[in-house]
Amino acid sequence: MARHIGVYPGTFDPITRGHLDIIERGLTLFDELIVAVAEGQSKAPFFSAPERVELIRQETRRYKNVRVESFDGLLIAYMKKKKAKTVLRGLRVISDFEYEFQMALINRRLAPEIETVFMMTAENYAAVSSRFIKEIARLGGGVGAFVTPAVAKKLKEKVRGI
Ligand code: ADP
Repeated sequence: MARHIGVYPGTFDPITRGHLDIIERGLTLFDELIVAVAEGQSKAPFFSAPERVELIRQETRRYKNVRVESFDGLLIAYMKKKKAKTVLRGLRVISDFEYEFQMALINRRLAPEIETVFMMTAENYAAVSSRFIKEIARLGGGVGAFVTPAVAKKLKEKVRGI
């Protein structure tokens, strides 16, 4: 039987405990889960793509069936190259829904054979977003509740310009 490969795409700038929770639970749905980091030059990310990939690799090393890669261009083109049929995305609040809904519909138009599945956030992480975490770090607040110690350290270094 063909291996069932899922792709969890995102900017992951940086990876949060909310993302990690989706990865951990998402893993149970697939033979292999590829965490696909969008290089995302248009979003002017705080961390470079190689830095984001490295942080996710560190945090997911213990899972045998997780692969972390970066990609550029259309998600569905990347999925076809990887022979992956399912996109995994997380949902937190209602405001996520509209964007996710539109993206899932557009991707379906472009590639009807690719399905998007959504996992609900764990309630502890409903308010956790990379955007707010970066803002808190810039303002000198503690981010330990939202990211792992390694990510918190990296954020601190970035803010200090190290
Ligand atoms: P993007 O820029 O593609 O939205 P993100 O890195 O912000 O990338 O998010 C990737 C995916 O993870 C999205 O589907 C987002 O809704 C989901 N996600 C982000 N934070 C959480 C969280 N705390 N709980 C559940 N899902 C989340």
